[in-house]
This record gives sequence, structure tokens and C-alpha cells, in this order.
Amino acid sequence: MVKAKVWVLDRRPLGEPTIEDFKLLEEDLPPCSDGDVVIAAECLSVDPYMRYRARKMPLKTTMPGGQVARVLESKSPSWRVGQYMVCYPGWRSHTLVTAKELKEGGLGSYTPLPDLKDFPKSTGLGVVGMPGNTAYFGFLELCQPKSGETVLVNGAAGAVGSAVVQIAKIKGCKVIASAGSQEKCEWVKSLGADHVFNYKTTSVTQALKDAAPDGINCYFDNVGGQFTLEALPHMADFGRVSLCGAISTYNDETRDKGQLVANSPFDAGLIITKQLRVEGFLVPRWIARWMEGLNQLKQWVVEGKLKYQETVTEGFENMPKAFIGLFHGDNIGKAIMTTAATNGRKPMTVKMTSFDWFWHLVAPLQLVTSWL
Ligand code: NDP
Repeated sequence: MVKAKVWVLDRRPLGEPTIEDFKLLEEDLPPCSDGDVVIAAECLSVDPYMRYRARKMPLKTTMPGGQVARVLESKSPSWRVGQYMVCYPGWRSHTLVTAKELKEGGLGSYTPLPDLKDFPKSTGLGVVGMPGNTAYFGFLELCQPKSGETVLVNGAAGAVGSAVVQIAKIKGCKVIASAGSQEKCEWVKSLGADHVFNYKTTSVTQALKDAAPDGINCYFDNVGGQFTLEALPHMADFGRVSLCGAISTYNDETRDKGQLVANSPFDAGLIITKQLRVEGFLVPRWIARWMEGLNQLKQWVVEGKLKYQETVTEGFENMPKAFIGLFHGDNIGKAIMTTAATNGRKPMTVKMTSFDWFWHLVAPLQLVTSWL
């Protein structure tokens, strides 16, 4: 009998999540019947959206999320033992996937991962996965950048932000970027950003006054709140704002209490007079074009135009720690968890690389259906 470890949401977070909000349980998996498979997670993703889910999901249920898993046992003709898949069973070390679940397509489906040899399988959860497509579609479709335009990206050392910086450079833009430490700023600069500032030590207003005297044409916003309040006055006329995330507000206790938040960073008068286009998005909007995004991202990675970094936390028991770390800026690039299931195989390391691989994943997100 396979024993699974499962992280459930034990308590509704109030403000910043704490370790005590989560509980690690053990469960015996049911027997693997005809058509079923048993999988073991090797790497899992922690993402900011999970904070939103924690506000609404039922207590005592499994935390949501994606993972790359290995087939341990198979009674399915479509899956062999040792094969890898990308799937979304949540924060679970082991999972029994029924024949019915294996057949379900669309969001959250169980999708084979090709052999990536020496390259981290976890990149399917990052630069050539959902965060990569968030950058690709959220920036190109909503901002419609033109060569020579000025682009502002915050959260620029994160999974999504670091990809946006590089896509903007590929499109010939001037890039102003911000991140929360000197080390992060140096990495973002090495990705090609023209001006990088540490928003914790430099005034956003002053930094943008210096770096964008003619105004910002495109603003890709991962942070929201005070940052956006200070950034909007620097937009050029007819600027485009892509609202991707607002991580600075996710731990807002007033929202946890279900109260409306009055202090919006959006000044209607300013948006009107500058004739800005401000638009939010959820990346599944482009589910029909998912492969287009992944193929382009993969090509840029292979060509060395799109670099990535991963911050890897080892040990399934550290899952909440890795998640909470997102709100302290602990990660550079994509935050990834590895499990003890990687024992005996090449461990994943923190690395920045580009590589040649083939990728055909279409199982992005059960997650985003109930995103915000
Ligand atoms: P990141 O890899 O960027 O990790 C989170 C980072 O956010 C931290 O490392 C930290 O970096 C920064 N951060 C944390 N707290 C704050 C704060 N209070 N103020 C400013 N920055 C903060 O995460 P992702 O790349 O996965 O996600 C980036 C954004 O994109 C998030 O807002 C997320 O919700 C959103 N998103 C939206 C999607 C959509 O479909 N709309 C899809 C995927 C992600 P630092 O040290 O620089 O502060």
C-alpha cells in the first residue's frame, strides 16, 4: 500500500500566511485498479495565486498546485512505470489517478512530460509553463509593445517578471525594471534590462522620473498597490497597462475579512486624461493558443534569448515554507519544491541556463478557473 503525504489548508490565513495555517497529513492510497496509475511528485510549484485560493477554498482540503510526477504503478495502457507527467493534484507526495481522471482533457489534465535528459523537469512549471505563458500573452497581447517604446516591469526577478523583461528586449523595447534586492537587480540587469532599481531602497517616483523622462508606454504590473499608485503618473499618453498580479495586496487582512478595499491605486482622472488602456487578465484566456506560447518560449530558451533561474527548496515537508517565502522575496526566478522522490536520481539545482528540448505540454491550470 502506498502512503501519501498531503498538505491541507487547516486554518484560513489572516494577513501573511503562517506554517500553522497548513497541516501535513498521511493517507493510504486506495488500491490501483484497472486503468488507474499511482504517481509520485518529484517537483512541485508554489505560486502566489495559492494565497487567493486559500481565502476561498474549503478548509481541510488539499492545497492546489501543479507538479511533475513519476508513474510508480500503472494499470493503464497509456502510461508506463517510470514515465513522467505534468499534472495538478495539489500539494501531494503521491496520488492515485483513476482511469476516468486520466481521460479528462482540458484544464488540469494529466499530460506526459518528454525525456528532458539533464535538464530540470521543473522548467515545465516555470519558463516553459504557465508563468512563461503569462508573460508571453499577458505582455504581448495586452501591452502591444512596439520597438523603441519604454516598458516598466515590476517583480522583475520573479518567474513571470523575468520573462517579461526579456520578451520586451526581444521586441526592441527600452526596459525599466524593479526587484527587491541588490542580487535580484543584478540578475535582471544581466537579462538586458536598461534601468533596474531596488524598490525597497529607491523611491519608485524618483526612479521613474529619472529613467522615463518621456513617459512609460507599457506597464506590466505584478505588484499593484503603492507601486502602481506611484507608477501611473509616469505613463505616457495612450499607454497600456497589463494587470497581471497585485502581490503586494494578497496578504491584506481587510480582504481576508471580506471587506471591500477602498484605497485603489487607480486614479480615474489620470487614466482618462492620459487616455490609458488598463486591463486585467487570467492566462487561461489564451488556452486555445497555449502551444503557440510554449513553442515560442522554448525556441527563445534554446536560442539563449530567454534565460531563467529556479530557486529550489528541498523536502516535501518544507512546502509551506517555500510558499510563504514568495511573500518575503525568497525566490529568484521560479520557486520550485523537490521531494524525497528524487532520491537516487539527479537532483535539480538552482541554475540559469538555456537548453535544447522538446515540449508538448497543454495542461496548464485547473488553478486559474477559480483564480482570484
Ligand atoms: P514571483 O516568482 O514573482 O514570486 C513572488 C515575488 O513577488 C517575490 O519573490 C517578491 O520579489 C515579490 N513580492 C512579494 N511580496 C511583495 C510585495 N509586498 N511588494 C512587492 N513585491 C513583492 O511570482 P510569479 O512570477 O509566479 O507571479 C508574479 C505575479 O504574477 C503575481 O502577482 C501572480 O499572482 C501573478 N500571476 C498572474 C497570472 C495571471 O493569469 N494573471 C498567472 C501567474 C502569475 P521581490 O524580492 O522583488 O519583492
